[in-house]
Amino acid sequence: MNITEQIAEHVTIPDILHKYGFQTGIHNRIICPIHNGHKANFCYTDHVFHCWTCQAHGNCISLVAQIFGISNKQAVIKINNDFNLHLTEERPTYRDKLRIREMEAQRQAREVKAEQGHEIYLQINQARRELFSLYGDDIEQVLYLDRLLDAYGKDPAPLVDWQVDIENLIINLKEVCKTPC
Ligand SMILES: [Zn+2]
Repeated sequence: MNITEQIAEHVTIPDILHKYGFQTGIHNRIICPIHNGHKANFCYTDHVFHCWTCQAHGNCISLVAQIFGISNKQAVIKINNDFNLHLTEERPTYRDKLRIREMEAQRQAREVKAEQGHEIYLQINQARRELFSLYGDDIEQVLYLDRLLDAYGKDPAPLVDWQVDIENLIINLKEVCKTPC
């Protein structure tokens, strides 16, 4: 049995996803951890995966290789090390570790941004509800917020880039509405 087969015996795709901080989903479909899309187009079984958007596919080893931008050989060493498999004596090199750390930092930054974007999305939603309860849905301000909510419902992360503008916008909309429409 070669090392690839040995790894497949010990580690499944869901194990890999859990280990490196990705959610596993119902029906084994999630947002692709490789290209970071917005839809759950990444399908997996215990031993293989396929992304219908970026066409990435493979096994545990190639999944780790593609998530961290390392070679399959380096991915074997990383899995062996992270899951304490003792299948090889090789350790990740310093350069690999740096690269892996950088990819992890990027992923965490994306997660933080997604959370912050979600918060801003909720603020917009709140403002929309307030204006709606006062004026109904046929005023321009509510329609404008509706368009924002539609545009960023699936991926609110970009809202972070203009957070201050949005906060000002919400204040202005409320001000404008106070003066009789
Ligand atoms: Zn993908």
